[in-house]
Amino acid sequence: MTTDTWDVIVIGGGSAGENAAQYAIKGSDRSAVIVEAELVGGECSHWACMPSKALLHPIELAECGRALAGVAQALNEPLDVAAIPARRDEFTHHHDDSGQVEWAAGAGVDIVRGHGRLIGEKVVEVTAAHGATRVLHARLVGTDVAELLHSATTAIVGKVDLETLWHAVPSYPTVSAVWLRLLESRY
Ligand SMILES: Cc1cc2nc3c(=O)[nH]c(=O)nc-3n(C[C@H](O)[C@H](O)[C@H](O)COP(=O)(O)OP(=O)(O)OC[C@H]3O[C@@H](n4cnc5c(N)ncnc54)[C@H](O)[C@@H]3O)c2cc1C
Repeated sequence: MTTDTWDVIVIGGGSAGENAAQYAIKGSDRSAVIVEAELVGGECSHWACMPSKALLHPIELAECGRALAGVAQALNEPLDVAAIPARRDEFTHHHDDSGQVEWAAGAGVDIVRGHGRLIGEKVVEVTAAHGATRVLHARLVGTDVAELLHSATTAIVGKVDLETLWHAVPSYPTVSAVWLRLLESRY
């Protein structure tokens, strides 16, 4: 069993996890790791947003064309039902997440493969697919950070002037700006 320490550990490398890890360390000397049990990129890249749009777009185009005089007669042939899912699979890179792993490396975010589980304060146990376990320690994680993030989200949704919460944060900042500010204040 190996043990490692990062400033920030993010469990789950979907869109949210990728962004959280990136913004947690952007422009700083902090370190971050994403623990991912399946594919880096998560649902959106591999199963949901991207493949669904790739699947639907050709059908939408054909439907539009068939309603358009001057084009409709050119679209009399039935759709190629093998080519459409094949196009979708190209968009998901056949569930190969190496491009996203490369992106993470470029952003300075490490990836640890396996199922993550909090086993103590700032301690995550990762169980790999083959059953081996590894313990990761975080310098910066826990309920305090979650509470701060919740406050920030509430402030944004309620359009509360953040001047009263954090100095030097402009009114209605982006989530990313608040997240960064919170990390800075906690580090
Ligand atoms: C058909 C469909 C189409 C959609 N289209 C759109 C769209 O066009 N635009 C849009 O904005 N949204 C769309 N969505 C919604 C979008 O997919 C989700 O909002 C988004 O993927 C959620 O991201 P996430 O990071 O929260 O979760 P996920 O993408 O689910 O990522 C979570 C990740 O965490 C990993 N994980 C979970 N538990 C653990 C653990 N204990 N240890 C390690 N790893 C773990 C999972 O393997 C996964 O990779 C669509 C959804 C569906 C179903």
